[in-house]
Formats: sequence, structure tokens, C-alpha cells
Amino acid sequence: MFSSLAVYCGANRGFYPEYTDASIETGQFFANNNIHLVYGGGSIGLMGKLADACLEANGKVTGICPQFLIEKEVGHNSVSELIVVQNMHERKDKMAQLSEGFIALPGGLGTLEELYEMLTWKQLMLHNKPIGLLNVRGFWDPMLQQLDRMVEEGFLHPQNRSLMVVSDSISDLISKMLEKRPQQGLDAWWVSPK
Ligand code: AMP
Repeated sequence: MFSSLAVYCGANRGFYPEYTDASIETGQFFANNNIHLVYGGGSIGLMGKLADACLEANGKVTGICPQFLIEKEVGHNSVSELIVVQNMHERKDKMAQLSEGFIALPGGLGTLEELYEMLTWKQLMLHNKPIGLLNVRGFWDPMLQQLDRMVEEGFLHPQNRSLMVVSDSISDLISKMLEKRPQQGLDAWWVSPK
């Protein structure tokens, strides 16, 4: 099992209860499987639901948030550890350093940006950690179709299309990510941005 994973998700809850349910289920899954949750440190939206559910089930939660966002995203007061950083780049770097892999839940531009940075950096072999997409309610289907189109029209190598694994269930997603984990003897690596 993983000992720590970063989760990217919406600072909003979205309009459908399935998104909140999936965040709660993810938080509980982390706690029950002793996976240290690393996330953006907010108390609002799906981020807050995820962290609360993990903490309520006695899980370990580290929030990483730049000072300027602490007020805006209503910094979570009761996480196990809150790391305050200087800026967004430092946040993403720290989240990635502390995690053995990355999961995106439904979210908006911030979630997309974080997910795609991990994907593009994996494509560039700046890290070798597994990336998973939790496809709740088919939320990510249009994005996955766009990736298929990139392959069909010659902009994305099929090998890079499969850099992330996809599932609608958190336990299945993590099983698939475990299969993609760096092979035994090869440590996970992460190259910090210069
Ligand atoms: P969103 O998916 O837009 O609701 O945002 C989810 C999280 O991503 C929030 O914690 C945002 O602060 C964060 N975020 C937004 N833009 C960026 C960015 N450029 N780099 C890193 N995190 C971001």
C-alpha cells in the first residue's frame, strides 16, 4: 500500500452530491488504509470534505498552502500538520515531494493545472510516481475524449495517453496505481523545479 498520496480536488463542492460523497469516501479510505493524505490545506469545497472525513476516521492529513491563500481558502484549523509556503510553485513542489503518487478528484482550473503539471512532468521523466483520476459521475469523460483526440490527431503519444489510470471507485483506482508504482528496487524520484 502507499504510505502517502497527494489529492487535488475542487475548492468548490459542485452541484451533485456524488462529488461530496466521493471526497468523503476517499478521505475515509486513506484513514482506513494508513495512507497519509497530502492536500492543499483548505477547509472549503471538496478539499474540506476530504480532509474532514480523513481526520474523523483518525487519518493523518498534511495541508500545504501559500500564505496568501490561507484566508481565501479558509485554511483548515485542525489538520495534523499545516505547512505554509511562499507561493503556488512551492506548494506543488512540496505536495509532490511528500507523496508517493497523485490523485485528482473532480475540480476546476486549479485541479486541472495540478493534474496536468504532474502528467507533463511525468512525460518529461521528471518523476516516476503514479497518477490516478477519480472519474465520479463521468465528470472527466469529456477531458478523456479530448486526450483520445490528441492521440488520433498526432499530438499525444499513445504511451503518454496511458500515463494516468482512471476509475470511478477509489479502492479500484488505488489498486491500479499500485500496479503502476515504480518497480521494486527502483525508488520513486521527483526533481524539484529549478
Ligand atoms: P479549483 O480546482 O480551481 O477549485 O482549485 C483547487 C485547488 O487548486 C485550490 O486549492 C486552488 O488554490 C489550487 N490552485 C488554483 N490554481 C493553481 C495553480 N496555478 N497552481 C497550483 N494550485 C492552484
